[in-house]
Order: sequence, then C-alpha cells, then structure tokens
Amino acid sequence: MKKEFVKDKNEEMNERLIELLRAVPVKDLIAKALEVRMIAYAPYSHYTVGAALITGDGKIYQGCNVENASYGVSNCAERTAFFKAVSEGYRQFRAIAITGSPEGHLVDQYAFPCGVCRQVMMEFCDPESFLVIVAKSDSDYKVYALKELLPEGFGPGNLE
Ligand SMILES: [Zn+2]
Repeated sequence: MKKEFVKDKNEEMNERLIELLRAVPVKDLIAKALEVRMIAYAPYSHYTVGAALITGDGKIYQGCNVENASYGVSNCAERTAFFKAVSEGYRQFRAIAITGSPEGHLVDQYAFPCGVCRQVMMEFCDPESFLVIVAKSDSDYKVYALKELLPEGFGPGNLE
C-alpha cells in the first residue's frame, strides 16, 4: 500500500477504511480490473480502463470502457461493471477497483472515476462504507470511501 494512503487521511478514517478493506480481496479485485482493461474498446480516447466490482456476497463483476463514434454514447468501465451486476439482480456492493492509463501502456497513474460514475455508485452504495480502490498494481493503490470522492452527494436517501 502506498504511503499517501496513510499520509493524507486522518487516523480515524484510516482505521475505518482498513477495517472495511478486510472484507475485500483487494489483490484479486485489482488483478481482475487489470485483466479486463486489456479488452477495453477505446478507439477514440485511446485511454483504456478496467474495473472490478465486488458484490455484498462476494461475486466479482468486471467492466471495461466501451466507446462509440457518437462520443456521448460511450460508457465507462465502472458503469459497465455496475450495470452488468445490477442487471443480474445485485443491489449491494462492497468495493470497486479501477485501473486505467493510455492504451498500450502499463498502468502508471491512478485513474479516478468520473463524476457520472460516482453518481451511479451513490445510487447503489452506502457512501460511508463503499470503497473505491484506484490502482496502478496490486501493491500500489489508494483507497477511498465513496463519501470522500462525492461529498454531500445526492442519492436515493434524499427522496425518502
Ligand atoms: Zn465514468
């Protein structure tokens, strides 16, 4: 785990995230994100992304970005994974691992989810406990609670 993971967060937050991480097979999740990144369809941005989403009961769904000649139709890796899982009946999720970099390159940067994907996560996940893992490799990654990436987010709870 990279140093920044500990450095830029307060102790209490760290302990909570570390506790939540125990229920997540982090290395496996990152490996599956890296694997599916290899089949990403990104002929326009040439930026390939792979994501692996783990459900509440431990099933893992992979997703890659799927672009389109009509650019706005493109779908991100994270949403591909979510939509696959949701369309098979899953509504509970623990964590998602995300890997991305320019096509043809090894992952050499942390690829954070776009705003649209953060909002989709907000629809199905508890922002306090859902973990977003941005990874370069299975030994170099950062972990965030969704709430940190989408503070004061608007979700289903607002409509109750
Ligand atoms: Zn996105």
